Amino acid sequence: MSTYTPPPSGSRIIIVGAGAFGLSTAYALSLKKKYQISVFDRYQVPVPDAASTDISKVVRMDYGLATQNMQLMIEGLPLWEQWNKERAAQGKTPVFHKTGAVFFSKNGQYSDYGIQSMQSIREAGYGHVIEELTPQAIMERFPHFKLAVENGYDTAYFNKEAGWCDSSEAIKHVYEKCVNNGIQFILGANTGCFEKLYRQENKVLGIQTKDQKIHRADRVIIATGPWTASLIDLGDKLTATGQIVIHFKPPASSIFSTFKNQPVWSADPGFYGFPTTTDGKLKVALHSLGYYNLREIDGKSVPRTQVTHQDDTIPLKALKEFREFLAKFFPQTTSMDVYYSRVCWYSDSQDSNFLVTPHPGLENIIIASGDSGHGMKFLPVVGLKIAQIVEGIESDYSRAWGWREVNSDSAAFDAMRACKSADMKPLQLEDTNNEDTKMCTAQDLKAAVPRL
Ligand SMILES: Cc1cc2nc3c(=O)[nH]c(=O)nc-3n(C[C@H](O)[C@H](O)[C@H](O)COP(=O)(O)OP(=O)(O)OC[C@H]3O[C@@H](n4cnc5c(N)ncnc54)[C@H](O)[C@@H]3O)c2cc1C
Repeated sequence: MSTYTPPPSGSRIIIVGAGAFGLSTAYALSLKKKYQISVFDRYQVPVPDAASTDISKVVRMDYGLATQNMQLMIEGLPLWEQWNKERAAQGKTPVFHKTGAVFFSKNGQYSDYGIQSMQSIREAGYGHVIEELTPQAIMERFPHFKLAVENGYDTAYFNKEAGWCDSSEAIKHVYEKCVNNGIQFILGANTGCFEKLYRQENKVLGIQTKDQKIHRADRVIIATGPWTASLIDLGDKLTATGQIVIHFKPPASSIFSTFKNQPVWSADPGFYGFPTTTDGKLKVALHSLGYYNLREIDGKSVPRTQVTHQDDTIPLKALKEFREFLAKFFPQTTSMDVYYSRVCWYSDSQDSNFLVTPHPGLENIIIASGDSGHGMKFLPVVGLKIAQIVEGIESDYSRAWGWREVNSDSAAFDAMRACKSADMKPLQLEDTNNEDTKMCTAQDLKAAVPRL
């Protein structure tokens, strides 16, 4: 077991990965004005197939009993507002949209997630942000949910502090802040692509990139998101799982295009969605067990994205699940084609807590990953906590995100997620023995019923 020593002033720090975790950490460390920081990535920022690159991600403090995440969000919200102010001063659009969020349960009864989230928020002194809604109130305030209410999604509360972030724009924003603070970026499929650690025995001395160059560093931070488990030996601590996103383009006359006051929403089991964007996209996604893409050499799951597999869509099984859920929740979408679909990748830890820790078997290296599908909302704040861990400062975060043994009871800890059982395993994408895991064709993505 190697011991970790914080980097002395003047240290060269390499961060691999320019997604949410890497950039947020780079920026936080740059505020110290005492390190030489370089960030490496395979592509220019925003990286096309990074989990962080997207049109929207949910920003919520509603975390069931996971109060540490709730507190981190409460700390992060004013920073999102601050970024909006910075952008307004630059004449740019906001990155955080405080639309509020409606958390739905079914048949007159709140889910455990709903009950626990409201309780945790009230006990933290934030009860004023929550409003419990009657079925009538849901339909009056948000008429696009009328059919959902009639089909049983009749129990809901509204959190007015929640909303969504324009994740690609937010990534660009923090990237610019990093550049302005003097951070060096080495981006490119060869020059920026991490191939392996440069080390002497268990002492990490830097990294080697795909162009075979050695880059020396005093500390290396691996923030490679869902690729992490396939790049560094972490045993079974992290696994890449593919998760499903679809977009519709509702017609201009549809309630989704005309009704302006749309909040973010979530509904059991694990489905969630966003207001229609100004360019007419209606996004729905599923926070669930997901899919594997296991490589032959060691059985590790590796992200398979539309950068390397341009024609990839989503597995047939996922499409069926979405259509089945939406037939009740948003029946209007039954007559709409799925206009865009994507498998986007989580770096899943065993308990849904992040993994931000020195590597127990290697010196001078910190892993900053394990986002478990809920890291983007923390973009302005997570780097501040990671930077503390890099500097060897203990906190509740260093303890929760440390190298740990997880018992199966604590798995699926983000209660909004659909997979409640630690025994369930994701299916392999494109499994030749399972038709359901094949990618949908353009025909499959067409409307489930003919247009009216
Ligand atoms: C479908 C989906 C929906 C989500 N919804 C939400 C949500 O609503 N709210 C929320 O808070 N979070 C959400 N998340 C989670 C959020 O997107 C992630 O927590 C966050 O983006 C993780 O950031 P990251 O930096 O760890 O990973 P990434 O953003 O994936 O960044 C990793 C970076 O590492 C780089 N990299 C990989 N390999 C190498 C290499 N060999 N060399 C150099 N660089 C490399 C990649 O190019 C990439 O840029 C969602 C995720 C997905 C997939």
